[in-house]
Amino acid sequence: MYVDFHSHFDFYKDHELDLMINDVDKNNIKVIACSMDLKSYNKNIKISKMSDNIIPIFGIHPWSVKSKLDDLNRYDDLVKETKIIGEVGLDFYWVKEKETYKHQIEVFKYFLKKSKNYDKFLNIHTKGAEELIYNLLKEYDVLDKSIIHWYSGDIDILNKFIDAKCYFTVSVDLNYSEKSREILNHIPIDKLLAETDGPTALEWINGNYGKPSEIINVYESISNIKNINKNELKEIINKNSFNILK
Ligand SMILES: [Zn+2]
Repeated sequence: MYVDFHSHFDFYKDHELDLMINDVDKNNIKVIACSMDLKSYNKNIKISKMSDNIIPIFGIHPWSVKSKLDDLNRYDDLVKETKIIGEVGLDFYWVKEKETYKHQIEVFKYFLKKSKNYDKFLNIHTKGAEELIYNLLKEYDVLDKSIIHWYSGDIDILNKFIDAKCYFTVSVDLNYSEKSREILNHIPIDKLLAETDGPTALEWINGNYGKPSEIINVYESISNIKNINKNELKEIINKNSFNILK
């Protein structure tokens, strides 16, 4: 079995779904289907009815936070029902509308509070806000409940997350990015997870639209870079993944 700990399965078009679900089931992949917002979560829930291998999770992505803030309490029931919270976090790099930043922080704090209350893991986007995220996770006492998704920030801050025993996903750019390989080499093996970030991340890296089975190539890259036998690596990542999913 493979585990894709950060996908955006709802990004697939409706007419592609049968094919993609078949790819998941045939290759025995468990997929954590992250959501961008409520609409995206509802689509992931619908998709999860097509295969037991799809695990839909609820969160509000920083890109979905607008300059006008929602009433966050309307999400309480969804946070209660979701297995993991995600995708949540902050983005001060790709998001150019600075007026949304304070709202991003407020939404993120809402999920941090819920993570602590309900003892749930968070699948976290950290782009351009790595240090602030570290400080907030520490303040809300949820560092040990954190999965840092596709980290790309400074090594100094990476080491703080590592010392705090966070989990990390690595993604589809390992064969393309020296920095990502360096980051992978820092991550302790017992905190390592793998992901594809859905169909569009690979497209961004090399122009190919990603199928779910792209996760097999991510495992292969890790196996080469870390010099670990493929079967052994599968066992390690499964164990780490099910420590969270149990
Ligand atoms: Zn994502």
